[in-house]
Amino acid sequence: MTDQLAPQPEQDPSSNAAAGAWDGIAERLRAGGLRWTPQRRTLVEVLRACKGHVTATELIGLCRERDATTTPSTVYRTLDVLEEFGLVKHGHGHDGREEYHVLPEQIHGHLYCEACGAVWEIRPETGAVIVAALEADLGFVIDLSHVTMAGRCEGCRD
Ligand SMILES: [Zn+2]
Ligand SMILES: [Zn+2]
Ligand SMILES: [Zn+2]
Repeated sequence: MTDQLAPQPEQDPSSNAAAGAWDGIAERLRAGGLRWTPQRRTLVEVLRACKGHVTATELIGLCRERDATTTPSTVYRTLDVLEEFGLVKHGHGHDGREEYHVLPEQIHGHLYCEACGAVWEIRPETGAVIVAALEADLGFVIDLSHVTMAGRCEGCRD
């Protein structure tokens, strides 16, 4: 019985790192205690097609379009393990709901305009200034991925 069938990761530096990020995901989920089920395969396919931010509710909806048997508990439990693997990272919107970044490259906070509802990502340089200021003031290191600041955007200020 052979159980070492997983291919070696592609080491070619010209290859797309993101494309290989999901390699061997079935085995990794199994190692994390989760069976590789059709629902989980569907979730991984949906995530691979996602860009930017996606809420768990949106993910459940997208999964159900492909597989009506998808249950929220399966989606949430799988997302937890995928987050441990670094494949997704959750943050919180202005109303506290969880939003997921797929293959997050940089931890960032968000701005939310209470007037028009638009959302911006805080640039890493600006985020670093905010983190440094609070650390210097209170010795507190904030997790920017959990920060969404509400206010008014340039167009809605007046
Ligand atoms: Zn959280
Ligand atoms: Zn606005
Ligand atoms: Zn974001």
